[in-house]
Amino acid sequence: MNPALSLRELFRFLFPTQCVGCGNVLVGSELQLCAKCLMALPTTNYAVIAGNEAECRLRQLIPVEAAMALLHFRQGEVSQHIVHAVKYHGNSELGFMMGRQMGIALQHSDRFTDIDLMVPVPLHFTRRLQRGYNQSRLLCEGIAQVFRCPVESRAIRRVRRTETQTHKSHIERIANVEGAFRVVRPDLLEGRHVLIVDDVMTTGATIASCARPVLELPGTRVSVATLTVAGI
Ligand SMILES: [Zn+2]
Repeated sequence: MNPALSLRELFRFLFPTQCVGCGNVLVGSELQLCAKCLMALPTTNYAVIAGNEAECRLRQLIPVEAAMALLHFRQGEVSQHIVHAVKYHGNSELGFMMGRQMGIALQHSDRFTDIDLMVPVPLHFTRRLQRGYNQSRLLCEGIAQVFRCPVESRAIRRVRRTETQTHKSHIERIANVEGAFRVVRPDLLEGRHVLIVDDVMTTGATIASCARPVLELPGTRVSVATLTVAGI
């Protein structure tokens, strides 16, 4: 038997860990998600679909080159458990894992071939201090391992702490995040093709608000990748 595997089995026996999706105890080489939940992930295939739902939604707000979301966000199902574990429970291993899956999807698409750098949607510094990390940055790190693209977190700053977008109407969401982001290092983005990364896209208002000052820079283009896309 592979000694590393047997050690892992022993560790699992002593400290059983549960699947983020269904709560069943993980076995063998399973990590974060059991094989059943992993197989049942509601993937969108949007990375290879031009004119997909996420892309159309964003194009009503901003001109994007291409947009993809890895999973459909479904209330009470695995995709919601994943987002919550990464966003609110500090599950960085899962964030990195899901980022890798996004990276694989991007890598297998011919629509994201000339991306120059990735920018995670920034949190306001007070929220980052509160949470201790930015979940979109975690996703970027996972993506970067597969997609081979640098991550740039210094270029954009969230200058206003916004209320949560949950329970807000489409119009309220747009007003809530209007002017919330500012480019503080235009030299890092000018003339580049920037991939903006976030965890959830609902109306696209937050991403659009983040992308607008980037699109004002000369010669800069924007594409978007999110972990999930919610129905509206
Ligand atoms: Zn499971």
